[in-house]
Amino acid sequence: MALGEFDLIEKYFRPPVQRAALGGGDDCALLVPTPGMQLAVSTDLLVEGRHFLSTVAPDRLGHKALAVNLSDLAACGAEPLAFTLALSLPRAEASFLAPFASGLLALAEQHEIELVGGDTTAGPLTIGITVIGEVPEGLALLRSGAAPGDELWVSGCLGDARLALEVFRGHAELPGDAFSAVREAMERPQPRVALGQALRGVASAAIDLSDGLLGDLGHIRRRSGVGATVWLDALPRSAALAAQPLALQRECLLAGGDDYELLFTAPAGAADAVRAAGLASGTPVTRIGRIEPAALGMKVFAEAHGRDPLDLSAFAGFDHFKS
Ligand code: ADP
Ligand code: MG
Repeated sequence: MALGEFDLIEKYFRPPVQRAALGGGDDCALLVPTPGMQLAVSTDLLVEGRHFLSTVAPDRLGHKALAVNLSDLAACGAEPLAFTLALSLPRAEASFLAPFASGLLALAEQHEIELVGGDTTAGPLTIGITVIGEVPEGLALLRSGAAPGDELWVSGCLGDARLALEVFRGHAELPGDAFSAVREAMERPQPRVALGQALRGVASAAIDLSDGLLGDLGHIRRRSGVGATVWLDALPRSAALAAQPLALQRECLLAGGDDYELLFTAPAGAADAVRAAGLASGTPVTRIGRIEPAALGMKVFAEAHGRDPLDLSAFAGFDHFKS
């Protein structure tokens, strides 16, 4: 039996709230800001066929829709507080809604972020989430803080989500267990929320990797007015990716997209503090290059002391209106 709009909201999207003064059900939710903190707000939209394949299991989709938003809070060093869910779906079916809500709310609980409202309509499957977090005044990590001489770091491994996509497209092959692992990276990314907060006061700039390393590093470069050098052999990759042909590895590592790792910079003297932040948050961190003066532009070398930079013309960052 199909549910009505309000039954559906009541049944799946009205969990009790503890931190918010008022959750869903009224015209607005009410949040209580902590004195001395700034609010961090971000929205991400997921559209079927563009951001996810129709083959994805609903619980994983619920997870991913929130994960990509939490990743933005992580990149700012913010602590998650509350989120809203704008949902357009073709049919109100329990077989979709129950697992979708459970994947979504399980990740919410893990990060202590509360669903406090939203909007629901019939239409093509589209999920818009707005997250609200908070960060001590003046300590938010921004894209604009990188300076020449800073070192460039990344969390976790790069390229697995793209490798999974290439397997789905029939462009790569993997044994079953390796495929499940990279598919998990694509469908159930783990936002680096604890690392982001541990990097407050340590990192000079940060961004989360959603559109591929080169494209997202380009955002740091533009906002900070700097150049950058990346060492290809330093880029952290899974055993599954390391077993692929070099050209595919490069594509996945440099232009992969959907990594949801943090790319950040820190002064050279802060390397120990960066490693400590990685340890404290249980997140691997790897140094992958250096920030340079703007005039040096963007260069990728095969290794740290390489002489000839790679030709980057094949790796434009992802742009939804150009590709
Ligand atoms: P309005 O039209 O006045 O904005 P709605 O009828 O759209 O209110 O929603 C009723 C209540 O249910 C609101 O409190 C809204 O925040 C909440 N709500 C609607 N859709 C969702 C959803 N997908 N997830 C969580 N809460 C929702
Ligand atoms: Mg509404």
